[in-house]
Amino acid sequence: MMKILVANLGSTSLKYRLFDFSNGGEKMVSKGGFERVTDHSAAIESCLADLEKGGFIRGAKDLAAVGFKAVMAKGVNGCVRLDAKALEAMEAFSCITPAHNPPYIQGIKLFAKKAPGTPLVALFETAFYQWAPEAAMRYAVPEAWFKAGVRRWGFHGASHKFIAERSAELLGRNDVAERARNLYVDGGKTPVKTPNLRVISCHLGGSSSISGILNGVAIGNSLGMSPQSGLPHNDRVGDMDAFALPFLMRTQGLSLDEAERLMCKEAGLKGLSGKSNDIRDVAEGAGKGDERCKLALDVLAHNARHWIGSYFLQLNGADALIFTAGIGENQASMREAICHNLDNLGIVLDPAANAKARAQEAVISSADSRVKIMVIPTNEELVVAREVKRQLQNN
Ligand code: AMP
Repeated sequence: MMKILVANLGSTSLKYRLFDFSNGGEKMVSKGGFERVTDHSAAIESCLADLEKGGFIRGAKDLAAVGFKAVMAKGVNGCVRLDAKALEAMEAFSCITPAHNPPYIQGIKLFAKKAPGTPLVALFETAFYQWAPEAAMRYAVPEAWFKAGVRRWGFHGASHKFIAERSAELLGRNDVAERARNLYVDGGKTPVKTPNLRVISCHLGGSSSISGILNGVAIGNSLGMSPQSGLPHNDRVGDMDAFALPFLMRTQGLSLDEAERLMCKEAGLKGLSGKSNDIRDVAEGAGKGDERCKLALDVLAHNARHWIGSYFLQLNGADALIFTAGIGENQASMREAICHNLDNLGIVLDPAANAKARAQEAVISSADSRVKIMVIPTNEELVVAREVKRQLQNN
């Protein structure tokens, strides 16, 4: 019996999926979650109790491991057993992941208490970018800053890795799918046939990022040193000139803490629209003629096109453009805005197929589009569970 629970922890949420990998199978047997969580300890107890009540486990001892889709840690990458050293390494980067690492560290410690003896394993979101070209991952900063960790790391690794695998399968390139599946075992050494498979993966959700993927291996990601960079997010800022921060602090007397709070909680779609951090509300506002809401949507689409363009160039074209996550899977109007007027690049949407596509796999490009445009619902938890299984089997 090999049951692996994958926990997705937010500052006020706990989502989980239970996988059963017994007898070589790969079944998601239960999923659930809690929103507006004020007491993570109680939420974890409820999660384990719900799994017991449903007959999926007879107690935490039935779990082969709990896996975490953790974000980043200083000096630690890939899939690792969560011991005191790994937690310290996560703590060391808490200040650049204020919305992510603190709830994870707290949740991991609570799981250690509620499920004593159960291995706790993290797959870091940075893992997918370990083989990206160095030039794509470096900032032009003094060497000492780089050594301290100031570089692009890239995030949403579990989601983009899932897209690398699934898009290759759907495009009939099982060789590339296998290479992507084996990436954390052999670092992309699994041979593939020609021609190259070039995929641009757009994870658009509460937090958004775009990755270029060549033959199943990432060549970069729009998120940089922290998960607040790249595209504008729901309420986090995205890319902004680093000199804006000292300017604001010096001219407006903002403290560092307040500036950080504003960049993390009052920026992104929320800051631009002045209305909401949820694209559904922003789109509704835009539909009623609200100019700030319209601008927020335009800025998101513009930034997505900027990064798609970047990877289109680096990959020397693209075979597929994939949309995933909450916005990418559901918001047809945003997909349309992003794909608008790209026919000279061979990217042509089928408006009817696009309007219909929602939360399930679909091809949304027109028959004459050189680049296949697809919606693929992501499955980050499955990627985590698979790596956790491998970690257990290898150690
Ligand atoms: P995620 O981070 O992938 O969970 O995406 C969450 C975001 O996706 C939400 O904040 C919404 O902006 C957007 N979203 C979720 N569901 C829908 C939907 N049915 N239609 C449009 N946007 C959605």
